[in-house]
Amino acid sequence: MVNGVRRIGRAALNAVLPPRCLKCGAVVDQPGLLCPSCWASVTFLAPPCCAACGYPFEFAMGEGALCGACSRDRPLYDRARAVLRYDEASRDIILGFKHGDRTDGASALGRWMARAGAELLAEAEVIVPVPLHWLRLFTRRYNQAALLALALSRSSGVPVAVDVLRRRRATPPQGRMSATARRRNVEGAFVVKPERRDRIADRRVLLVDDVLTTGATVNACTRALRRGGAAAVDILTVAQVVRPSQ
Ligand SMILES: [Zn+2]
Ligand SMILES: [Zn+2]
Repeated sequence: MVNGVRRIGRAALNAVLPPRCLKCGAVVDQPGLLCPSCWASVTFLAPPCCAACGYPFEFAMGEGALCGACSRDRPLYDRARAVLRYDEASRDIILGFKHGDRTDGASALGRWMARAGAELLAEAEVIVPVPLHWLRLFTRRYNQAALLALALSRSSGVPVAVDVLRRRRATPPQGRMSATARRRNVEGAFVVKPERRDRIADRRVLLVDDVLTTGATVNACTRALRRGGAAAVDILTVAQVVRPSQ
C-alpha cells in the first residue's frame, strides 16, 4: 500500500516537474535525455569493434576480427555490445539508475540499447536480465537489469522473460575485485529455473545488464543459460569497461 502510494506520488510529481538530465540533473526538454555538456562528456561505442566482446577498434579489421584477449580466450557468450564506454562520465548515469531514484531513465536507456544492439536484436528470440538476489532486491527495491530489459523489449518488440535466471546466493559486490576473484565470486551463482526452461530452450537469448566489467557475471549467466538449453547467448549493456589495449 505504501509502495502504491509512493508510486502514484512519483508519477504525479513527474507530470508536473520539468524533465532532468540523466547525469547532472539539469533541466532538459524531454524526459530521459542528457544536457548538451553531459552529452559531450560521454563516449558512445560504435563499430568497428571486436566481433566477440565489442572492444572498439581504431580501424576496420575485417568482418569477424577479434581483439587480442578474445583470440587468446574466447568468451562463453557469442557477442557483447554496449551503448557507452564505462568511465567517470558514464558512471553517474549508471549509479543514478542503480542506487538513486532515476528509474525514469529506463525508457531512454532502453532506446539507446535498442540502437547499439540492433544487430543482436535482429536475431534475438528472448531478452533475459541478469537477476539480483532477493535480499539485495529487497533493499534496493528494483532490479536495474530487469527495468532495462523491459524497456528494451518495449523499444524492440522482442519478448522479455524477467524470471528465467535465479541467483542462488547473494554474492558480495565486485567493485574492487580482480578478474580472478570476480570469476570465483559468481561461479555457480546462477541457475535457470526449471519451470522457465521452455522460455529459452533452443532460443537465441539476449542477456541484459547495466555494466560489463570483466565479463565474470555474464559468463556465469551464459553458462547457466546454455545448461538450461539456450541455443546461443549475446550480451547487451548500457556501458562497458574498455581497457587501454586488449
Ligand atoms: Zn547534464
Ligand atoms: Zn574481444
